[in-house]
This record gives sequence, structure tokens and C-alpha cells, in this order.
Amino acid sequence: MYYVPDETIKCGYYECPKCNERFLDISTEDSIVCPYCEEDIDLEIGPDEGMNNLGSKAKLISIVEGKEEVEKMDALLSLAITGGNYDWI
Ligand SMILES: [Zn+2]
Repeated sequence: MYYVPDETIKCGYYECPKCNERFLDISTEDSIVCPYCEEDIDLEIGPDEGMNNLGSKAKLISIVEGKEEVEKMDALLSLAITGGNYDWI
């Protein structure tokens, strides 16, 4: 498993409109701070600036439910990162 812990049975499938990364997160919120964009955030922005100024929000595309489904999505996304072509997802 690459994105979520083993035995995860429900997670969110997200896409970031800014960096176009697609990933799974244990969260199932409508939107979460993109972990990829977050890495690029200028650290001069103090924590008191609030979440509103942090990078961009990745949007929930769908909720993946079921251990096997989660594992399948995780594997596909992991393969995509390593060079596979999975634009059909
Ligand atoms: Zn992003």
C-alpha cells in the first residue's frame, strides 16, 4: 500500500486541480489540502495565516469502499506514478 495504511476499507480518491496529482487519502472530506502542493508551500507563511492560504485543495472524486477496492486503486495509482499509463481511471 502506498497511499493509505494496510487494511483500509474506506478512503477518498482525490484529484488536485493545481498539480493534477491523483491520490488516495484516508480522509473522505469533500476537499483536503493537497499533500503534493503542500510540500511546495513557502515556509515563510506562518502557521497563523490559516488553512485558507495553504496551497490548493484537492477535490474528492469518489469514495472508495471495500478493502479490495482500496487495494486495487492504490495499486493502480502506484503504478501510474512509476510510469504506467492509467489515464482511463
Ligand atoms: Zn496539488
